[in-house]
Amino acid sequence: MSSSSSVILSDSPSPTHPSPPQSLQRVQPSNKPRGELYVIYNSDQAKEWSDWFQLTKWQLDNTKTIEWSPEKKRSETWKYVKPCARVQDGLPAIHCRRCGDVLAHPSLKNTGTSTIVHHLKTSRCSKEASRQGNKDIQVIFQKVSVS
Ligand SMILES: [Zn+2]
Repeated sequence: MSSSSSVILSDSPSPTHPSPPQSLQRVQPSNKPRGELYVIYNSDQAKEWSDWFQLTKWQLDNTKTIEWSPEKKRSETWKYVKPCARVQDGLPAIHCRRCGDVLAHPSLKNTGTSTIVHHLKTSRCSKEASRQGNKDIQVIFQKVSVS
């Protein structure tokens, strides 16, 4: 089997790619084209998740093991984001609960949570936070601020 580098997005997964279990929450990220849906990882559904994920195109093409459980991640950052994966092919990602954007999963490039912290400080995301009156985020800013 040859693997294509181009990803064809559609409203429904390809016939060769299994659909995520219906019990998993789906989101339409605010920074992705319409129809590019992601499923949110939930530790209560870890078994269903891994049963699906191990058959995704992404996992079949990549030998990498993704650490899904946020409980094992001690950073405060994980209060604001949830791990997720693209419905169409299983691409791992991070869903921001504040602004609805989807970010690259840190395990893909071993960037740790720095990209997530950076995102939480962007004006786009913090605008959402202030609109929602979320004060907790200040804790993160104080901890990572270097100035
Ligand atoms: Zn955000």
